[in-house]
Amino acid sequence: MHRLTEADREVQAVARTFADELIPYEVEAEMADGDLAAEVAERQRARARELGLTATNIPTEYGGRGLTTLQQVLVQEQGGRVTNGLAWCMSTPPGWLPAVATPYQRERWLEPSVRGTAVECYAITEELAGSDVADLAATARRDGDDYLLDGEKWHVTSYNEATYAFFQARLVGGDHEGEHAMFFVDLPSPGVRVVRTPAYTHTIGHQHPIVAFERVRVPASHLVGAEGDGMTFAHEWFRFERLMVAARCLGAAERLVEEASTFAEQRIVGGRPVAEYQLVQGMLADSVTELFAARTMVYATARAIDDGVDRKVAHAQCSMAKLYASEMAGRVADRAVQVFGGRGYMRENVAERFYRELRVERIWEGTSEVQRVIIAGQLAKRGLRALV
Ligand SMILES: Cc1cc2nc3c(=O)[nH]c(=O)nc-3n(C[C@H](O)[C@H](O)[C@H](O)COP(=O)(O)OP(=O)(O)OC[C@H]3O[C@@H](n4cnc5c(N)ncnc54)[C@H](O)[C@@H]3O)c2cc1C
Repeated sequence: MHRLTEADREVQAVARTFADELIPYEVEAEMADGDLAAEVAERQRARARELGLTATNIPTEYGGRGLTTLQQVLVQEQGGRVTNGLAWCMSTPPGWLPAVATPYQRERWLEPSVRGTAVECYAITEELAGSDVADLAATARRDGDDYLLDGEKWHVTSYNEATYAFFQARLVGGDHEGEHAMFFVDLPSPGVRVVRTPAYTHTIGHQHPIVAFERVRVPASHLVGAEGDGMTFAHEWFRFERLMVAARCLGAAERLVEEASTFAEQRIVGGRPVAEYQLVQGMLADSVTELFAARTMVYATARAIDDGVDRKVAHAQCSMAKLYASEMAGRVADRAVQVFGGRGYMRENVAERFYRELRVERIWEGTSEVQRVIIAGQLAKRGLRALV
């Protein structure tokens, strides 16, 4: 078993301290639709920056922290211990962007995102294209020196905070007809409007509206990479974000096991702490065992990426990590609610909040079914030895 280096432990300790500072604000956020007072939220964002917990995935030459993949996992794991999306202030701008951005795009969007003065959102999913992102109906057509963008995007996370969107569409006309392309769209921009803002299961300040893009005109300088590159970026992002979802699920499970264990020791029923009842012990034992398995897997996946594992193998391993850790965290949350009894059904209780919040980890960045399809496909192509 590898040990964490001193540098790893330092990064982890800073992130843990910050997560512990955020936790006291959870119930206030829960009771206020996920929002905190603007000055409190700004203070938290500033503190995350000051502690070096933002842009951990961006190379130092672009102003980021340039942490190893394992260290990024350690940071996000601590963020995962906090409910209500409060740890989202430990933001990670798109890590694939530095390699493809033009000098203009770096200055205009990437560097401000790294500094925390710009916020991005992703407008990719549509009503009829979610799991199958290749099936998008949104279009981009060249018009002189510009492109005209049209489409309706669903679940655009953080749109209410964002200063620009990545808009993915199918090209109409030209040499790359039918292929995908991605564009920067500043927010607000003429032709971009919110269709509606549905309520979701979790209580966080970041909304996920349905957003219409109608004849949105952007200069050709807003094209990310080249025409036809759109899906490449989606795949790069999925690989990173799936591992980070897995990392946050580890943190959530750790917090749940700790909180449920403490409660079980203190709660007296029938003259004894419930922790002494073997049926309760069984729930805690299963949870800690699954957490151990998931953590071992996620850390190994991160280390393999740092050691330069083949990209396709990394893709499959990130899918395995996301699949297992998200499903593990769901089971741990369910057991934690049970250990807390009636208190576990109260919104002021951490287990109740995680029980709702963790559900989406099995849906976004590719559902559990999609992860299984990817893993099985890689198993068939590369064989068992390459994957595990
Ligand atoms: C809270 C939230 C935030 C989100 N944020 C964003 C965002 O910021 N930007 C963005 O672009 N998108 C975002 N999404 C979209 C998210 O990525 C999709 O919801 C997800 O990929 C699933 O797509 P879908 O909802 O269309 O489900 P569908 O694709 O309609 O799937 C329905 C069911 O069919 C199953 N299924 C589909 N294909 C297969 C298959 N091949 N084999 C077996 N089963 C299959 C699925 O697993 C699922 O159970 C967000 C979603 C949520 C809920």
